[in-house]
Amino acid sequence: RAKDSGRNTFQFFDPSMHAQGMERMQLQHGLAKALEQGEFELHYQTQVELATGRRVGAEALLRWRRADGKLMPPAEFIPVAEQTGLIVPIGAWVLHEACRQAALWQNERQGRPRIAVNLSALQFRQGDIEATVQSALQASGLPPSQLELELTESILIGDPASVLATVTRLKAMGVKLAIDDFGTGYSSLAYLSRFPIDKLKIDRSFLHQLDDASQGAVIVEAIIGLARSLGLRTIAEGVETEAVAARLLQLGCQEAQGYYFARPVPASELFS
Ligand code: C2E
Ligand code: MG
Ligand code: MG
Ligand code: MG
Repeated sequence: RAKDSGRNTFQFFDPSMHAQGMERMQLQHGLAKALEQGEFELHYQTQVELATGRRVGAEALLRWRRADGKLMPPAEFIPVAEQTGLIVPIGAWVLHEACRQAALWQNERQGRPRIAVNLSALQFRQGDIEATVQSALQASGLPPSQLELELTESILIGDPASVLATVTRLKAMGVKLAIDDFGTGYSSLAYLSRFPIDKLKIDRSFLHQLDDASQGAVIVEAIIGLARSLGLRTIAEGVETEAVAARLLQLGCQEAQGYYFARPVPASELFS
């Protein structure tokens, strides 16, 4: 600590620390303005049913279009949006925009693809997530069963009593609930039987097991088996090859998403 290090040192003014702090402050400031100025966009990645190859849904993925025209991926700004609380209003915008877009697909197409939307823990703790979901559905006219909320394990473990009540009411509204990045969060699985979940989304990090058909696939098999015994559906994320898709189908995974099928694209390109 600077205080302990004596008057002849200059730790407090470490230039790299200073640069990091400046960058963070600029990012924070930029994020607040980005929402007002409409700099966020959603890209959509197709989700398919493995047995038929049919498109059954799409996941909405947030992007920030900077002034220079470059797209900033969510990993670079969502952590700051979470630390500052800005993820609450940004997340509300995501829900409204994703439902609006999905309602257009419902009117224009047959097959009625579902829309999957990512939620942050803070939207449960600070935001009124139920009211936000309700207003996004109402404003768009999207049927609730066409909206799937992707929750992380950290949301369900955070504050069980109030989160359980909220999740139960969301489910009662008719929306679908999926656990994102399943298997990476916590070793406690107790929440799975308590929360009214519909689907497990198998994290990409487990799929390398499936690259080589001669290898075992114990984790992926275990997740699919767990889902089956709990009556849940499964989707795999990050499927990049035909071989992995084929093995997932063989193992009984129902749906998949990944570069092998489609990359995330702007709404205008999704059906072209
Ligand atoms: P996620 O929800 O697990 O989304 C999947 C990520 O994997 C996306 O990254 C997607 O572009 C990427 N991906 C899809 N297929 C493949 C593949 O075949 N190979 C590889 N290597 N990657 C693939 P993206 O769009 O950069 O998003 C990263 C994360 O940011 C998301 O992970 C999610 O946790 C978060 N995120 C994105 N949009 C939102 C949002 O609107 N709200 C919140 N709270 N978080 C979001
Ligand atoms: Mg997701
Ligand atoms: Mg995921
Ligand atoms: Mg992931």
